[in-house]
Amino acid sequence: MSTLEQQYQNVLQRIAGACQQSGRTVDSVKLLAVSKTKPAAMVEAVYRLGQRSFGENYVQDGMDKITALQHLHDIEWHFIGPLQSNKSRVVAEHFHWVETVDREKIARRLSEQRPPHLPPLNVLVQVNISGEEQKSGILPEDTHAMAELVSTLPNLCLRGLMCIAEHTGDDERLAQQFRQMKDLQQAIQARYPQADTLSMGMSGDLELAVACGSTELRIGTDIFGARGATL
Ligand SMILES: *Cc1c(COP(=O)(O)O)cnc(C)c1O
Repeated sequence: MSTLEQQYQNVLQRIAGACQQSGRTVDSVKLLAVSKTKPAAMVEAVYRLGQRSFGENYVQDGMDKITALQHLHDIEWHFIGPLQSNKSRVVAEHFHWVETVDREKIARRLSEQRPPHLPPLNVLVQVNISGEEQKSGILPEDTHAMAELVSTLPNLCLRGLMCIAEHTGDDERLAQQFRQMKDLQQAIQARYPQADTLSMGMSGDLELAVACGSTELRIGTDIFGARGATL
């Protein structure tokens, strides 16, 4: 077994273990393999192991791989990085999901720029659950308004919420924020049934995220290995 395969299988096992611990079925949690800065050949290798959903943070880096891997017809690309409005068109045209919508302007542009022959772009609203000042995402109290806006835009499909956890060693604090996210997502889903996704949990905190009701884990390092210098 290659190192990559071992690491991938290891992550699948951790997820299965976390689901069992929490009394959840394995198919209630989706794995997003975060391939930012990694080459297309590595993405294809993980695809061959059965993985279908991949997360990218940088528009050009992501586009290089989307182009190189066009022959993989059922691959699913999620944009999970900060999105500048001058790059929204490329994302609207080539990705299946955008997980970082936190401004009205970006939401409107993505809807306008989504090609009409494609299904609506799946959107997660990013919430700044820790309230850290430097962090992207809307404040929890603004979530309903942003969800409402996204739900009215014709070429977007509101699929749920996403957060990037605070970098803290305090598990109780983290769990509190994760539970708050779960409450928010359930309140949103009560109004918009298709908003069934809660994207939270990364390599370091996947067990806690699953225990708190995450439906999508974004795992990079533990699958692909450490990243070199960022782009
Ligand atoms: C890089 C990144 C991840 C993956 O983080 P790892 O620690 O490598 O697992 C998840 N989510 C977002 C938004 C990221 O930018």
